[in-house]
Amino acid sequence: MPNGADTHCPYCALQCAMTLTPANQPGSAPAPAAAPASLAVPVLDVSGRDFPTNRGGLCRKGWTSASLLRHNGRVTEPMLKGSDGVHQPISWDQALMLITAAVKDTQKQYGMDAVGVFGGGGLTNEKAYLLGKFARLALRTSRIDYNGRFCMSSAAAAGNRAFGVDRGLPFPVQDLDSASVILMLGSNVAETMPPFVQHLQGARDAGGLIVVDPRRSATAAFTADGGGFHLQPTPGTDLALLLGISHVVVHEGLADTEYLRTRTSGYDALIRSLNAFWPERVQSITGVPATLIRETARRLAHGARTGGAYILSGRGVEQHVDGTDTATAAINLSLLLGLPGSARSGYGTLTGQGNGQGGREHGQKSDQLPGYRKITDPAARAHMAKVWNVDESLIPGPGLPAVQLLQSLGQPDGVRCLFVHGANVAVSAPDASAVVDGLRSLDFLVVCDFFMSETAVEADLVLPVTQWAEEEGTLTNLEGRVLRRRKALTPPPGVRSELWLMARLAELLDAPSTFSDDPETVFEELRLASAGGLADYSGIDYAMLDRGEAAYWPYPAGSQGTPRLFADGFAHADGRAVLVPVTPSKRARRSFANAAAPGSLALATGRLLEHYQSGTQTRRVAELAASQPEARLLIHPATAAARNIADGEFVAVSNERGEVVCRAELSNTVRTDTVFLPFHFPGQENANRLTEAATDPISGMPEFKTSRVWVRQAIPV
Ligand code: SF4
Repeated sequence: MPNGADTHCPYCALQCAMTLTPANQPGSAPAPAAAPASLAVPVLDVSGRDFPTNRGGLCRKGWTSASLLRHNGRVTEPMLKGSDGVHQPISWDQALMLITAAVKDTQKQYGMDAVGVFGGGGLTNEKAYLLGKFARLALRTSRIDYNGRFCMSSAAAAGNRAFGVDRGLPFPVQDLDSASVILMLGSNVAETMPPFVQHLQGARDAGGLIVVDPRRSATAAFTADGGGFHLQPTPGTDLALLLGISHVVVHEGLADTEYLRTRTSGYDALIRSLNAFWPERVQSITGVPATLIRETARRLAHGARTGGAYILSGRGVEQHVDGTDTATAAINLSLLLGLPGSARSGYGTLTGQGNGQGGREHGQKSDQLPGYRKITDPAARAHMAKVWNVDESLIPGPGLPAVQLLQSLGQPDGVRCLFVHGANVAVSAPDASAVVDGLRSLDFLVVCDFFMSETAVEADLVLPVTQWAEEEGTLTNLEGRVLRRRKALTPPPGVRSELWLMARLAELLDAPSTFSDDPETVFEELRLASAGGLADYSGIDYAMLDRGEAAYWPYPAGSQGTPRLFADGFAHADGRAVLVPVTPSKRARRSFANAAAPGSLALATGRLLEHYQSGTQTRRVAELAASQPEARLLIHPATAAARNIADGEFVAVSNERGEVVCRAELSNTVRTDTVFLPFHFPGQENANRLTEAATDPISGMPEFKTSRVWVRQAIPV
C-alpha cells in the first residue's frame, strides 16, 4: 500500500470516504484538529476524503475505526467450545470438518431446513450475494434471513408497494442541499451520521427543517433558531400524524392534482381514507397541535411549488408493527405533493447499516433472490438456475423472516444448526433473552466475527474473519451508489474471509455450483445474477469503480446508471405510483392511550453518536467506550421525581419480558410518558431484553419504539 488506500468507513450507510495510510509514516495525512485522539495505537491513519456524502468529514466512529484492526481482543484462530464452556483454538481443517459433519448429521436427522443462516447488513455485496447462494445451494436450506429485517424492511416493503422498487434515497444526497423544506421523520442524523447534517443546512437556514420525533434529539434541536420546528408526537402515533398532514394537503387544495392524475393511481380511495383524520382529531391522538399539523402541510406544499421539498424517513417511524403502513403514509403524503421523481424534490428513506442497501438486494432475505427478485417468481428462479448452472428445482422456496427464524431455534421443525455472519443477535434482536435461550438450545452454532461478541460467546465454534480494511469488495450506500472497499492491510495469520470459508464448505458439502473466494470474480457473477432485475448491477465493474465513476443502480450493461429514479415513471408496469390507503392498526391505536397500562411508560430504543449497532466494535474502541461506557435511561425530570429517582441513580426498567438495570439520566428531551434507552449495550443493560418480538405482518419488522415498561429505583447488581 505505498500510496495509501482510498476506501470508505466500515460503519454506517453514509459510507463516508476516507484514505488509509500507514500510521506515523512521513506523508501520512494528519487528522484535523477536530478529530479525537484515539487511545488505541492504530496501524493505519485515517483521513477524511472529499466525496459527495461527507465532503471530507467523518464522525468519531470513522476517525477511530482503524484502531480495531489490531485490537488485542481480536479472534485470530477458530475457537471451539469445550464441555467446560471454554473456547479453545483449533485448526481451520478441524473447523471445516466439524461444520461439515454437523450440517450433514443435522440434515440427515431433521431435514434440510434444520440448518439456518443469519446474515448482516454490514457484509460486502460479494459476501451478501455468496451467502444467499451458499445457503440455498451448499446448505440446501430455505432458512436464511438477516439483521436488515430489523432496520429497513418496512420502508423497503412500502417502497416496493408504492413505487415498484426500493432504493433508500432515489436521488444523490447532494440534491438535498438546495431544498427549502425537509420533513425528517424519526431520523436522528445529527448523532447517527453527523456529516449528513451539512445536507440539511440549506433547508434549516431557510426555516424549512421540520423534525418529527417523540424525543428532542440532536436533529430536532437543530431546527431551533432556523425557523423550522419540532413535532413531538405520542410514541406510536406517527401514522396518524402523517394522515393528519395529508388531510390538510387535500382539504386545503394543496395537492398537485396534475401529478396525481398523470403519475399515480388509487387517488379516490386515498381521499376517502383521509376524511377521518382532521387536524383537531389528530391532535387528540398524537398530542401535536393542530396548528403545527396545518403549518407542516402548508410549508411542504410551498416548498413543492417553489421547487425544493423532501420527505425523509428513518427507523423512528419504521420500526413498528405497523411500520410498512406508516412508511406508506409518508409516501402517500409525498405523492399528494408531487415530490417523487420531480426535479429538486423527493421522498427517501435513510438506510442505517453500512451495506444495508446492498445487503438486501443480493439474496440474503428469506423471500428474495439476487437482483431484488422475488423467490416465488418463476422467471426469477429460472434466471438464477441458469446463472448458477443448476436445475431450478434445487433452489428452495421462501424461508422465514428474521424474527420467526430466531423464534424457531431449537423448536420441532425449527433450525437446529445455525450460521451467523456479521450479526450479534444476542444484543440486537428483539426479546433478546428469548433469543439467547434459542441460541443455547441449538445442536450446533457457528459464528463468524472479529471479536467474541455476545452471540459468539454462545457459539460452539467461532470463526475469525477479515475486517473491512483487510480485503477487497464493494458496498452500496444509502443513495444506491456502489462503492469500492479496498484492502490496506494484510489480515493476521489464521484469519480468513467469509468468501474463503463459503467456497471451502461448498466443496466439502458437494454443492452443485461453483463458489469463488475472489471478490472480483464473485462480483462478476453478481453482475450476471442481477442483470434484468430491479437492482441491476450488470453495467458496473471494479475498473470503473476504481476510476471513481459514480455507479447508481439500476445500471444495466451499456447504460450510464440511474442517479435519479422515477423521472420518467415508476417501476410498476403502468409506470404509475400506487397510493395505498392505510389506517392505524388496532395495536397502534391501543398505544394512543397510555392509560391502557397504568404507571407504564413507552420505551423507545435508539442510537448514540459514539456507538454502532450492537456495539461489538465501538465498545472496543477505547476512546468511544470512555465517552459512552454504559447505557443510560433518559427520563424526564417530572417522571423521575414521581418515582423518587435522582439523576445518575440506578433504575430498574422492566416488563413481562425482562429487566434492565442502568443509570438514569434526567433529561427534558424526552416526553413525560416516554423513556429512551440506547441499544448498544449487553447484559443487564441490553435494551432488547424489553422489546417485543411482535412483527409487522407485511415486512417482518419488529416493534422497537413503543414497548411498555415500568421504571423504579434499583440497587445495582
Ligand atoms: Fe462512518 Fe457513518 Fe460516521 Fe461517516 S457518519 S464516519 S460513515 S459512522
